[in-house]
Amino acid sequence: MKAEIIAVGSELLLGQITNTNAAFISSRLAEAGIDVYYHTVVGDNPKRLEEAIMIAQNRVDLIVFSGGLGPTKDDLTKETIAKMLGAELESDQSALLSIEAYFNRTGRIMTENNKKQALVLSGSTVLMNNHGMAPGMAIEKNGISYILVPGPPHEMGPMFENEAIPYLLGTLGKREVIVSRVLKFYGIGEAELEYRVQSILENQTNPTVAPLASPDSVILRLTAKAQSIEAAKNFIAPVEAEIRSLVGQFIYGTDDDTLSSKAAELLIGSQLTIAAAESLTAGLFMAELADVPGISSSLKGGVVVYDEEAKKVQLDIPASLLDEFGVVSPECAAALARNVKRKFGSDIGIGLTGAAGPDPHDGKPMGTVWIGITLQDGKVETYKLNLSGSRNANRKRAARFALYYLIQEMKKRESGI
Ligand code: ATP
Ligand code: MG
Repeated sequence: MKAEIIAVGSELLLGQITNTNAAFISSRLAEAGIDVYYHTVVGDNPKRLEEAIMIAQNRVDLIVFSGGLGPTKDDLTKETIAKMLGAELESDQSALLSIEAYFNRTGRIMTENNKKQALVLSGSTVLMNNHGMAPGMAIEKNGISYILVPGPPHEMGPMFENEAIPYLLGTLGKREVIVSRVLKFYGIGEAELEYRVQSILENQTNPTVAPLASPDSVILRLTAKAQSIEAAKNFIAPVEAEIRSLVGQFIYGTDDDTLSSKAAELLIGSQLTIAAAESLTAGLFMAELADVPGISSSLKGGVVVYDEEAKKVQLDIPASLLDEFGVVSPECAAALARNVKRKFGSDIGIGLTGAAGPDPHDGKPMGTVWIGITLQDGKVETYKLNLSGSRNANRKRAARFALYYLIQEMKKRESGI
């Protein structure tokens, strides 16, 4: 099966948004074993959309449309396709009910044009939208499959994954299930990770192993196809174990874990409390942790000790220590961790100090960061970072690295190392 993705939207052509939907849809189709041959972008213009569809009909047997399913005048995708396929648009009862329920829930007044969102192509399979109003559609005509999904990525993603892919596997006669497992890494760059797991990336078949990098972390997505979920998991398990044996120390979590959710899970799970002393991050570390519901049983609090005086007055950091080693030093990070733990009576203390930039600080180059962590045994571990981003990127990354090292320290403790 050869596929083309047609993303509809003038904002894409104007450069106001990036076509992330095409990237997402492509990666999911690749996992399903469907080859994507073309990406097309066309504005909100029925005539040019028609032309794009005619070209696609001559070269592929699956066309996926993203965008233009909304209630406004410029949303013309389904109208144009209806006209070209000679299909009617008819109101879908379940879609209409879910739109009405949405308006009741949010207390908003439903207008006539909102009903337009419940119109679907006659003879199509409706793809439910669990994150918005416009339903998606799948229809086959003259040997070509058409899939329509809405533009907003948070609506399109789950719909494509949970509704469109199973539909496609069904029509392709594949009674297969697809199971994905995501391994999440921190503290290692994409290039190094790929290098270290090269042998796995080169020999992958089932599961496929795909790296994906975001600005400050990397994931590996393992995707297996099999006759049952159990069988797919059995394909994934040995490959995951092999990856863990090569680069396990950089894995902080799986699937939906984030650094803060994982750190919180370990803290809450082991009933440990924590307090933080933050210099360069000025509260970012605590803010990340506080994002996680339920953290109040573990996060005692902390202090922002931005300047030297605050470090001395608020946390009793001795002037002699600062004179001898400087503010951006392992000694200072360790003292911050130790003293904040004592002041707050927590099990864990964490201290962050560094030169965020743009100028050097305390004679240390921009991007130098020291993180100190002390657990119950009173020992302090210190970690040095040499970050190379902008001032604010460095501050954010310092907070994230602190979460990452905290996770590592708690795991070490759990496994008794
Ligand atoms: P709505 O009901 O929100 O109008 P729609 O299906 O009509 O949904 P569009 O109007 O085309 O979709 O796009 C809505 C929003 O979705 C855009 O403003 C943009 O933020 C996002 N979006 C649309 N297409 C893409 C795309 N290809 N990649 C990433 N984001 C997109
Ligand atoms: Mg729209």
